Amino acid sequence: MSVDSINSLANSQSGVQNSQNIVFKNVEHKVGIMEKAAMSCVKCAKCVPTCTIYSINRDEITSPRGYLDLVQAYSQGRLALDLSLKNAVESCFLCTTCVTQCPMSLPVDFVIERVRVDVAKKYGIPLYKRFLFFLLGKRSVLNLVFSLGFYFNPCLFKDENGRKRLRFGFGNLKNRVITPLNRRSFLQRFNGLIESKNKDSMESNLQDSIKNEKLDSKENIESKSQDSIISIESNPQNPRKVGIYIGCLSNYNYVNVGVSLLKILDRLGIDAFIPGKQECCGAPAFFSGDIKNTTRLIKKNLDYLVPLLSDLDALLVPEATCAAMLLSDWHHALEIESEVFGIDNAEYLSKLESLKKKTFMASKWLHDFTRLDSILSKRKKSQTKITYHDPCHARKVLKIFNEPRNLLKNYALKEMAESSTCCGFGGVTIQSEKYDLAKKIGDKKAWHIAESNAEIVSAECSACRMQIDDSMGRNNVNATFKHPLELIAESLEKT
Ligand code: SF4
Ligand code: SF4
Repeated sequence: MSVDSINSLANSQSGVQNSQNIVFKNVEHKVGIMEKAAMSCVKCAKCVPTCTIYSINRDEITSPRGYLDLVQAYSQGRLALDLSLKNAVESCFLCTTCVTQCPMSLPVDFVIERVRVDVAKKYGIPLYKRFLFFLLGKRSVLNLVFSLGFYFNPCLFKDENGRKRLRFGFGNLKNRVITPLNRRSFLQRFNGLIESKNKDSMESNLQDSIKNEKLDSKENIESKSQDSIISIESNPQNPRKVGIYIGCLSNYNYVNVGVSLLKILDRLGIDAFIPGKQECCGAPAFFSGDIKNTTRLIKKNLDYLVPLLSDLDALLVPEATCAAMLLSDWHHALEIESEVFGIDNAEYLSKLESLKKKTFMASKWLHDFTRLDSILSKRKKSQTKITYHDPCHARKVLKIFNEPRNLLKNYALKEMAESSTCCGFGGVTIQSEKYDLAKKIGDKKAWHIAESNAEIVSAECSACRMQIDDSMGRNNVNATFKHPLELIAESLEKT
């Protein structure tokens, strides 16, 4: 449900005549983003049983309708923003399960994100987060930090069953499974135009012929005898070209995700363009209430990316969290900044609309707009057992869950129980200050993976990957994690 539709719903339910103000205790009170959603809740409790935090902390205060009650009281000045309220709102995993369960799709996640901005204003952003967000906004410094980390790898980390753990435990990091480090990031290795070498014999896209009405399908579509792949003659004058928005975890840690996407695009005869000055999407800062750092990154990205779009068929994002940021949360963040700081973001909201028209999660675009699905159908089947975890940002926010599964058809897919429940990543605060909560949710996910007997677990999200790898390591689950793009690229490489 959009904030606009909440406006009218909230007004009708509260009997409010003026859409922006209510009279509470004889004082005119400005109705903001938080209160509009809170006033619309009918307390039906449909959201409660599936709430991630409620499943481990059986207290209605930490449940969607509990949050909405608290937020309503806070926004009306009946409840102080004290440490208990701070603790409650920081315990939400922002998984959006409640939004999908609520008959009115009330945006509980958006409300929590909004309150976290007030928390950050009142209590400040902890030093470790300020340092992290500073690094995420300074690519040159972060490149250096990761390169140094790579060279000191053997001193810092030890290998245990193929997973890296810190040698020296401190705080919550003790025994954590750590993400891999690379000497050079994806964006340091790849930049600008990367032309496909397969354009002349392109196993190409039926969608091309639909999109380009000049093409006569009878003349241009031909069967390819070798492996019966329907092929369209290359159109060197107008090759397809897509941009890649890589995301920080794939840029620095899981570089093979981007490399796999390049291999797939190359195989499809599609040129790739990597915008070298792309910035972090701002998710870590946004989920921590640091709205200023978030919107600074959003605006830098919009100023840089939008002018590039006219030359691109699409902008592909191989990470669910980053894709959901661009397609959903950037709008929320710009709205919150306008409400809290009175900044007019109309120009950036308009740029964002242009960006959204061409932005897709990678699996969605490859599935819907190319012949990849058909090409994979002709490939050799693998006996490798895999299971798929649905990232919340993919399944619940972007409604993407069939596409990656279809593209993984060459593997023996065994669904785990509760594949769409949250993995327990939850963001920087949960991973650092509330790691015990992340562990409890992660343990359940690890057990479901173990029960599936899969050799490989896959999900189109590197934040889920970090959390699931850590959970599997703690629970001695031997499955390995691969991004669906890595599995698809491997499948294409097999004859
Ligand atoms: S976003 Fe997830 S954890 Fe937070 S209230 Fe909703 S269901 Fe619960
Ligand atoms: S499902 Fe929606 S309306 Fe019902 S209690 Fe939860 S948030 Fe309120």
